This record gives sequence, structure tokens and C-alpha cells, in this order.
Amino acid sequence: MPLPDSTDVFVIGGGPAGLAAAIAARRRGFDVTVADCSAPPIDKACGEGIMPNGIAAARALGIDLSLAGGVPFRGIRFREGQTSVEAAFPHGCGLGLRRTALHRLMVDCAEAAGVTLVWNARVTGLPENGAIADGCKVRARWIVGADGGHSPVRRWAGLDACHRDSRRYGSRRHYRAAAANGLMEIHWGQGCQLYITPVGASEICVVLVSRDPHLRLDDALPQFPEVARRVAAAGPSTLERGGISASRRLKAVCRGNVALVGDASGSVDVITGEGLCLLFQQAVALAGALAADDLGAYQAAHRRIGRRPEFMSRLMLLMDASGRLRDRAIRAMASRPRLFAHMLAMHVGELSPSAFAIDGLALGWQMLTL
Ligand SMILES: Cc1cc2nc3c(=O)[nH]c(=O)nc-3n(C[C@H](O)[C@H](O)[C@H](O)COP(=O)(O)OP(=O)(O)OC[C@H]3O[C@@H](n4cnc5c(N)ncnc54)[C@H](O)[C@@H]3O)c2cc1C
Repeated sequence: MPLPDSTDVFVIGGGPAGLAAAIAARRRGFDVTVADCSAPPIDKACGEGIMPNGIAAARALGIDLSLAGGVPFRGIRFREGQTSVEAAFPHGCGLGLRRTALHRLMVDCAEAAGVTLVWNARVTGLPENGAIADGCKVRARWIVGADGGHSPVRRWAGLDACHRDSRRYGSRRHYRAAAANGLMEIHWGQGCQLYITPVGASEICVVLVSRDPHLRLDDALPQFPEVARRVAAAGPSTLERGGISASRRLKAVCRGNVALVGDASGSVDVITGEGLCLLFQQAVALAGALAADDLGAYQAAHRRIGRRPEFMSRLMLLMDASGRLRDRAIRAMASRPRLFAHMLAMHVGELSPSAFAIDGLALGWQMLTL
């Protein structure tokens, strides 16, 4: 598609956040154009696990993720050394979905909704009331920055100021192996985690996350002998791909006629598996705010949407930082799996953090008495 001279909403970045924001704005009746410097299907290092609340958030946008294939998983397993604990989601299943399949589906949904999609078009600046894409000015009433964690739009709009900004490093590879029992697995090691998502009948996605930018999957595998055995027998089906896991909360996500969405607007640690759910929810909130001509409402909704995942992210990073705490917490939950089930229910938004407070006390007591 050629770039138009003008549009109501100009979305910079055609990853999941840009496409979700475009679909939501189109459903509100806006004329919407998306420009991305790559072309579909766009791949990215990602754990490829979508929690049940993420599937529901996509459905609220009219996107049925099951149409892209993928593999449902019924819950989560934590494992450290010989100790493991697992629980099912209170309702529904999560979905393991290859990133390229997700992107293809979202492009189809955006096209069907009437969004103008322009690929291989790099945006290089934000003059007044528009953006420069491929060297030409596109006039727009609203600019949406969906250009990922390194977001140039965030910088151009003067929205870089953060309350919190820390990073870890992720590394992803697929293997031809079957998943364990329909679960997403998180294996805890010293200073790193491996998480495994089933993404095909006999394919898994393995992600390593750590604070060490040089650590690679093959270096970390000896810490996880059971996983090492499984993947050695299977063999990789893709090359290793790296990405940054930022825990970032911005002071503001909009200014003037510019609003940020997805990783451009801040993010939680990837171990939460919440990135996609967050951006689907943000997209709906943003479209509502554009329709009401009130970006302040988006700022407030963005803060509200981020609270629970940020809390879970901090909890997980505490477990990453302290081996003693992690060991006790996982053993305590293994001896009382109901506590883990409640934690998972809180994670997917089915139990409020205040309702979890009593379980939190029980967990603390169990950790002290182990
Ligand atoms: C290792 C790892 C594992 C993860 N695991 C999970 C998981 O299991 N579950 C989950 O829900 N989330 C996970 N996430 C998070 C999830 O991948 C992100 O939240 C999500 O990709 C954010 O999408 P986005 O559209 O905001 O950004 P991106 O996917 O980064 O898309 C940004 C787009 O903007 C385009 N762009 C950038 N600059 C310009 C420009 N100047 N002009 C035009 N286009 C531009 C890029 O080409 C790109 O297509 C993980 C992330 C990492 C790093």
C-alpha cells in the first residue's frame, strides 16, 4: 500500500501492539494507517505463551487467537532442582503460539477491519500534526507510537522519563520435542530461568532469561539436566534469537496528540508472560480515549492495567535475586499446592492481590517453618 497524505490515526510500528491499536481504533470508526519498517510475518524473540486473560483480551478486540493454530496449555509448573509444583488455571487454557503465526493472524484481522498497512516504511521524525515516513509527511490527528522497547517515538515525544527501568536478557530457540503434560514450565536456576511453552504437536519454545547479556542457552543448559536431556534428544528447529526483557514504567505515556502502546509504553519482565495481554488491553483503552478525545483517560487506564502484572513481575524478580527465598518459596508451595494455585489465579486476574493476602501470610508461615 502507498502511504496516504493524511489519516485520522497514524500508527508507527506494525507489531502486535500497533496492529491491536489499529484494529481497536478502526472499530471506533477512525481512518487508520500503520507503517512498519519490516514486512510480515515479523518474528521476534518471545516465549510465545499467552495466558487465559490474554486470550480474553484479544477476544475483546475481535481477535480469535485459536484461528492461528497453536497449542493450549492448562496451567503452569515451577521447578527448581528436584522440587516442582504445578497448578491449572482457574478457568480456560493458555495458548502457545508461534510469533509468526500470531503476526499473520493479526495482519489478516487488521486488513479485514479496513486498516491501511504500509510495510518497509521507516518513520524518521514527528513534525507538527504528522510523521515523516519514507521521507514523506503524513498528516494525522493522532500519532500512536507502537515501535517497541527502543521506541524512537517515545524519545521524539519527550516521554522517555521513567519511574523504573531495569533489564534482563532473553534468548529463544525452538526444539522438536513434546511438551510436559500440557503445561508451561518455568525452571529456576542460579541467576537465570528457562521457560518452556508448547507451540506445536511436537515443538516447544525454550526461552532463557538472565541478567547476563552474554549467557546463551547452551551455556545455561547444564544447570537444567532434565531439560538438557529432552532437548538434546530432540534437536533445535530454529536458530537462537535474542531480545531484551525490560521492566520499565514511564512517568507518562502520552503528550499532545501522541500516545504510546505496547513495549514502547513500558513493560514488565518477560517471565510474567504478560506482554501480549497488556498490549491487547491497552489497545482497547486507547481507542476509547481517542473516541472521547481524552488521552488523559488513556493515561489513567494504562496505569490501572499495569498494576497487577507489575506486582507479579516484582515478585518473580525477588525470587530471581534471592536463591534462599526462591528455594523456600518453591518448597513451601510444593508442600501446599493450593497456595500456588491461588498465586496463579492472581497472576491471571481471577483473584485480587488483597484476596491473596491471607494466602501470602500462609505462604510466609510455611516458608518459616520448613
Ligand atoms: C525473550 C522474550 C520473551 C517474551 N515472552 C513473552 C511471552 O511468553 N508472552 C507474552 O505475552 N509476551 C512475551 N514477551 C513480550 C512480548 O514479546 C512483547 O510485549 C511484544 O512483542 C511487544 O509488542 P510491540 O508491538 O509493542 O513491540 P514489537 O513486537 O517490538 O514491535 C515493534 C514494531 O515497530 C517497528 N518499528 C520500530 N521502529 C520503527 C520505525 N522507526 N518505523 C517503523 N516501524 C518501526 C518494528 O519493525 C516492529 O515491528 C517476551 C519478550 C521477550 C524479549
